[in-house]
Amino acid sequence: MSKSHVLVIPYPAQGHINPMIQFSKRLASKGLQVTAVIFSSQALLEHTQLGSVGVVTIDCQSHEEAKISIDDYLKQFQATVTLKLRELVAELKNSSGYPICCLVYDSLMPWVLETARQLGLSAASFFTQSCAVDTVYYHIHEGQLKIPLEKLPLTFSRPPALEITDLPSFVQGLESKSEYSSLLNLVVSQFSNFREADWIFVNTFNTLEEEAVNWLASQRSIKPIGPTIPSVYLDRQLEDDREYGLSLFKPNLYGCKEWLDSKETGSVVYVSYGSMAALGEEQMAEIAWGLKRSGCYFLWVVRESEKKKLPSNFAEESSEKGLIVTWSQQLEVLAHKSVGCFMTHCGWNSTLEALSLGVPMVAMPQWTDQPTNAKYIADVWHVGVRVEVNQKRIVTKEEVERCIREVMESERSNVIRKNSDKWKKLVKMAVDEGGSSDKNIEEFVTEVVCKSKGIIE
Ligand code: UDP
Repeated sequence: MSKSHVLVIPYPAQGHINPMIQFSKRLASKGLQVTAVIFSSQALLEHTQLGSVGVVTIDCQSHEEAKISIDDYLKQFQATVTLKLRELVAELKNSSGYPICCLVYDSLMPWVLETARQLGLSAASFFTQSCAVDTVYYHIHEGQLKIPLEKLPLTFSRPPALEITDLPSFVQGLESKSEYSSLLNLVVSQFSNFREADWIFVNTFNTLEEEAVNWLASQRSIKPIGPTIPSVYLDRQLEDDREYGLSLFKPNLYGCKEWLDSKETGSVVYVSYGSMAALGEEQMAEIAWGLKRSGCYFLWVVRESEKKKLPSNFAEESSEKGLIVTWSQQLEVLAHKSVGCFMTHCGWNSTLEALSLGVPMVAMPQWTDQPTNAKYIADVWHVGVRVEVNQKRIVTKEEVERCIREVMESERSNVIRKNSDKWKKLVKMAVDEGGSSDKNIEEFVTEVVCKSKGIIE
């Protein structure tokens, strides 16, 4: 029997690749043929297969390599991908024997829909960020929220009402650089053909963001299918699904696990600001001294490009208490029994990972969608505390210490831990067989097969 073949196209950033590759694995486990596209600039060329998911490459420069403005880069990216996608769809028909029937594209690339239509294919848009954040951008797209901001609260978020400081940074207008207006346009454009796509996937699950999911679903049908965490950490339905598989950075494999093994249960603060956030030197120093003041063990991911901002000699001076690495196997770290708290930038993947593994958080949002995620961590799910910034928008060492102590040892830490356990169970239920996300994936598989066979329009 001919298999229905789906082509998955993630935007080339770590936080977008991970969820879409995981989603691909789920689709393949349910019987679809799945091929994922990566971009050659990402030095991932050695991959042609990731478990059951095929991997193909489109030749394309990264923004860093191109050295042009974001607007110009995005135009160039769109032109290249549009052209190459057509060739790829034709090639895959010959090489795999199964013609592509559907394009699943990152919602940051809404123009893929046009290519799908020209090729007579069905199409699904995949939103990698939270439904609450998507809903904020949707309001802007529909003209219901004007930038610069005029009035709040937003209708979908009751309770809790989102304050201005809880909104994505591009909406708050925190950034002055022209780049950020390009980024605001980019995130709002996710909705440019929202109603036209055949399916909308969101990397969340119904009960996690009930209000926002229901609100967005009242605008058009959506399928929450998350969280997209390797199966071994959740439902174990997929054999061999232990890691994401496509890392843009090289993890420090040596030493991390041994170091964690040597620490007591729940005694380590894991600190990471993800793959993109760049912190100021002053902020790095405050974090460093805050960690020291907390007296806790810490494992801190400082990317190679950020290392020069560490106070001089900090790594050596604190080597008894802390280990600094340039990239980690984050899931393995979060799953380690020694880790008692995750000081995070609240990237959506990191947030979902901590929720899935029941790790309490110190929320220290930096930019983009992170303030909104931080709001949910502290005030909706109650699985952590959010740092406060001072007038210079810096989180001081005293504040870092206060927040760590609150999550690690205060009376409230018991409540936070209990809630973290509760959410861990709810995540599992959503992705396990018959759970809300699992059902939505099943439904899609049935529908895409029927569409490809011409059974439904
Ligand atoms: N990650 C990792 N090692 C690290 C830091 C991050 O493997 O040292 C992974 C993390 O597990 C997550 C992704 O990188 O899946 C980061 O995505 P997120 O949405 O949290 O943040 P972004 O990098 O997009 O800001």
